[in-house]
Amino acid sequence: MTGPVEPYPGPFERRFDAVRHRLGNTGVEALLLSVGPDLPWLTGYEAMPLERLTMMVLPADGPATLVVPALEAPRVVERPNLFSLRPWSETEDPIRIVAGLLGGAQRCAMGDTTWARFVVDLLAAGPGLALSRSVSVMGPLRAVKDTHEIDALSAAGSAADRVARQLQAGDVPLIGRTEAEVSAEIGRRLLAEGHQRVNFAIVAAGENAASPHHEPGARVIRADEVVLCDFGGTMHDRWGVGYCSDITRCVWTGDDVPGDVAAVYEVLHQAHGASCAAVAAGVSCESVDSAGREVIAAAGYGQYFVHRTGHGIGVEAHEDPYMVAGNAELVEVGHAFSIEPGIYLPGRFGFRLEDCGSVVSDGWQPFTDADHALTSVIA
Ligand code: ZN
Ligand code: ZN
Ligand code: ZN
Repeated sequence: MTGPVEPYPGPFERRFDAVRHRLGNTGVEALLLSVGPDLPWLTGYEAMPLERLTMMVLPADGPATLVVPALEAPRVVERPNLFSLRPWSETEDPIRIVAGLLGGAQRCAMGDTTWARFVVDLLAAGPGLALSRSVSVMGPLRAVKDTHEIDALSAAGSAADRVARQLQAGDVPLIGRTEAEVSAEIGRRLLAEGHQRVNFAIVAAGENAASPHHEPGARVIRADEVVLCDFGGTMHDRWGVGYCSDITRCVWTGDDVPGDVAAVYEVLHQAHGASCAAVAAGVSCESVDSAGREVIAAAGYGQYFVHRTGHGIGVEAHEDPYMVAGNAELVEVGHAFSIEPGIYLPGRFGFRLEDCGSVVSDGWQPFTDADHALTSVIA
């Protein structure tokens, strides 16, 4: 954790209550959280991703305990009303401690990104354990953001948006530099604008932009081509919980965008607008996807839109809900996700246009609003 941290309970008491309620409703006897996003969301504390086990044991009806390596314990602020600490020393076996705290509970939900070594050892120590993934408990709770979380996502989005505007204004030199150099500069700007961590900064020039998750490399950016930039980071809220940003803008390194290129971009922009306009409480996630996809398909580019329209965003860069065909889940007020259609023409160029935003009572409220046009940048 960095930065000023306000006193508890903040949002955490409410989250503990909601989790316990949901454990009761889903018949899960205990929740087990280690490395990954669930634990900081619930407590403000992020487990060190190391071989020494950190694990929150949260029974449906009993006191919660954070089992933590003794040497990490000074980093944890104990919250007696929410959980107690059980530091373990180098000669103790933390798996046995966790098994003991379960007190016979068998139906347990385990954090989705818990390392296999801990899961395997715990299964050996607690025969009869029936594990499910924590997303079954946490997914719906984390997907509907509270006002603190919307504020945190807006702040992170605004910071990324400022970097996008700098890119569009020509503040980030492009022509003659490698994709990797531009990626590094975008990363530095994300930090300068207030993020604590850079999660990714895709920079893809010309034909490389046809690969949606291109790894920025030694390719030198030339005049008169597309440069696709997709970047985001993590920014801490006032309780030290990190929230993610994610934005994509494309620019053209020249004065005049050729007509055929502009025409493809216009299709993409229309598709983006159609998906944004489709967002409303009560519609299905897949209908948000299909609204934009139909525009792209009608223009003959359907086969070149090779990914889903969007992903939820929060303490993770990608989380529930997903805007994808087959997801009949309903959009709710408080959901936060990306809308990011793309058109990728192999060997030529590609485009993606992405904003993240949240669902409000009358539709879509984006966290970012840098110009949606294919901006000309001569820099
Ligand atoms: Zn992105
Ligand atoms: Zn995204
Ligand atoms: Zn637009």
